[in-house]
Amino acid sequence: MKIIMLGAPGAGKGTQAKKIADQYQIPHISTGDIFRANIREKTPLGMEAKSYMDKGELVPDELTVKILLDRVSNEDCKNGYVLDGYPRTIPQAEVLDRAVGELNERIDFAVNVDVPDENIIKRMSGRRACTKCGDTYHIEYMPPKKENVCDKCGSPLIIRDDDKPETVKNRLSVYHEQTAPLIDYYEKKGILKTVDGTKDVNEVFADIKNILES
Ligand code: ADP
Ligand code: ADP
Ligand code: ZN
Repeated sequence: MKIIMLGAPGAGKGTQAKKIADQYQIPHISTGDIFRANIREKTPLGMEAKSYMDKGELVPDELTVKILLDRVSNEDCKNGYVLDGYPRTIPQAEVLDRAVGELNERIDFAVNVDVPDENIIKRMSGRRACTKCGDTYHIEYMPPKKENVCDKCGSPLIIRDDDKPETVKNRLSVYHEQTAPLIDYYEKKGILKTVDGTKDVNEVFADIKNILES
C-alpha cells in the first residue's frame, strides 16, 4: 500500500503517518525528518536545507526529489510506504507519479488531514520534538510521561526552530500557495480522502483505518 499524507504544517500528518506505519508494517518516510537528520549530522545537504527551513520556505524541488526517489527505491519500500511531507508541490507529485508508473504501480490513497488555520498556531506552539529519535509530543494534547523527556528514548525534547509563530505564519502561506493545489490534483486522480483532523488523535486514526480498509 502506497499512501501520501496531505495537510497543513501541524495538521497531524506525522502523528498519523507513524500510526499507519505501525499498523500496516510499512516504512514512514518524512522528508522533514530526513532533512533534520542531515542538519544534525551537518552534511552539505543539511546545511543547504536548513537555510530554507529556518525561513519557513520549501527546500527546492531538485534537492527534495532526489532524496525522495533515492529513499523509495530502497528494498524496504517494495510492499509500500507512507509519505509524510512529500509531495509539497505539483512538480514533486508529477515526479513521484512518473517513478511509480515506471514500476507499473500506483499511489493508492492521498489522505488529507484537514485542520483550519486557526487551530494550527496552537498545535505548533505546543509541539515538542525529540532531539534524538524525532518523536513528537504536544504539551497539552499529547504530553510526554515526564516533562521535556522523550517517552521512547529518554532524550530531551525541544521546540523546533521553525515552530516559532513568525515562521509558522510563513509556512502556512507557503502551504496555501504551493501545497494546497495538490488536493485538487489528487481529487482529479480519484484517490483523495479527506479526514477531519480536529478530532482526537485516535478518532482521526480510526477514520483513516476505515478508509484504508474499505
Ligand atoms: P511540517 O509538516 O510541520 O511542516 P516537516 O517536517 O514536514 O514539517 O517539514 C519541515 C520543513 O522541511 C518544511 O517547512 C520545508 O522547509 C522542508 N520540507 C520538508 N519536506 C519538503 C518537501 N517535500 N519539499 C520541500 N521542502 C520540504
Ligand atoms: P505535521 O506532521 O502535520 O506537521 P504533527 O503530527 O507533528 O503534524 O502534529 C503537530 C502537533 O499537534 C504535535 O505537537 C502533535 O502532538 C499535535 N497533534 C497531532 N494530532 C493531533 C490531534 N488530532 N489533536 C491534537 N493535537 C494533535
Ligand atoms: Zn526520542
